[in-house]
Amino acid sequence: MSLYGIFLLGLFLVIGNAGTGKSCLLHQFIEKKFKDDSNHTIGVEFGSKIINVGGKYVKLQIWDTAGQERFRSVTRSYYRGAAGALLVYDITSRETYNALTNWLTDARMLASQNIVIILCGNKKDLDADREVTFLEASRFAQENELMFLETSALTGENVEEAFVQCARKILNKIESGELDPERMGSGIQYGDAALRQLRSPRRAQAESAQECGC
Ligand code: GDP
Ligand code: MG
Repeated sequence: MSLYGIFLLGLFLVIGNAGTGKSCLLHQFIEKKFKDDSNHTIGVEFGSKIINVGGKYVKLQIWDTAGQERFRSVTRSYYRGAAGALLVYDITSRETYNALTNWLTDARMLASQNIVIILCGNKKDLDADREVTFLEASRFAQENELMFLETSALTGENVEEAFVQCARKILNKIESGELDPERMGSGIQYGDAALRQLRSPRRAQAESAQECGC
């Protein structure tokens, strides 16, 4: 695929309590397979993937909390400049669902005002152990103006959809003028800026030196 097809670059986060399956969701989205527990590679903190949303290419750069949430040390810098977020709870754990309000408060306080959040009720495959009903969570989502899906990082169900729906909402906001990619901290950039980022920093530097003629 030609790089020139890439139109936008968007920064995404995955937030929610430890153990809800955030790293597995990211892994499933990028690799299209379930990250099993025998794979103890730590530090997969970042993933990126190009998706096609209504004919536009969007390169998503996704940050994982990489265990920080265990120590409640998810910081302001983590939220800075994010265009979208997956807010994850585990449908088999009411505790993780009850924590959503805190996560939302942080996100609304520390992230851009325009951040688009999709609520993901993960581990949909464990329906027999469910502690949170679909209806209850969809009401919560509605009240808090979130999109909502139940996902399974194990089977892959609705994983790509979660990212795509979030990206689509962001593109709609850009089209309606509600969100301006040119504004600092919007978390989304237009094509040429995205292309510049894809090049090696050295080459980009060399080119910008040429441009200024010095
Ligand atoms: P994180 O702490 O939020 O990053 O959660 P992890 O991605 O490390 O997953 C925590 C545990 O839940 C691991 O044992 C995973 O194998 C398991 N897990 C994650 N997603 C799913 C899922 O969709 N279904 C099931 N059955 N288990 C999952
Ligand atoms: Mg994790």
